[in-house]
Amino acid sequence: MYLKTGKKSQCSGCTACMAKCPKNAIKMVVDEEGFRYPEIDQDKCIHCGACYQICPNVKKEEANTISRAYGAKHKNEQERLTSRSGRCFCSTV
Ligand code: SF4
Ligand code: SF4
Repeated sequence: MYLKTGKKSQCSGCTACMAKCPKNAIKMVVDEEGFRYPEIDQDKCIHCGACYQICPNVKKEEANTISRAYGAKHKNEQERLTSRSGRCFCSTV
């Protein structure tokens, strides 16, 4: 993810991208605070996308992406009070 956005806060420095790169185009570089972040050698990169696909923060972001959400509740307050789901998922028992 860091490789895509350039935001250090989105990189844990796990080195998975470096390990996955088929061209050894990624190296971990120590910043001014002593943390290691990946840098891509653009002369070696073939833009295969392997580094993005392996990044755990990309997967985390994808997993957290909600494309659509719905909300609903039963109109009858007494019904709602007896259900944790707002009586959206009730049976007629
Ligand atoms: S896109 Fe592919 S070649 Fe380029 S840095 Fe990422 S893994 Fe390496
Ligand atoms: S795989 Fe993702 S989190 Fe790990 S070092 Fe590379 S950019 Fe950072």
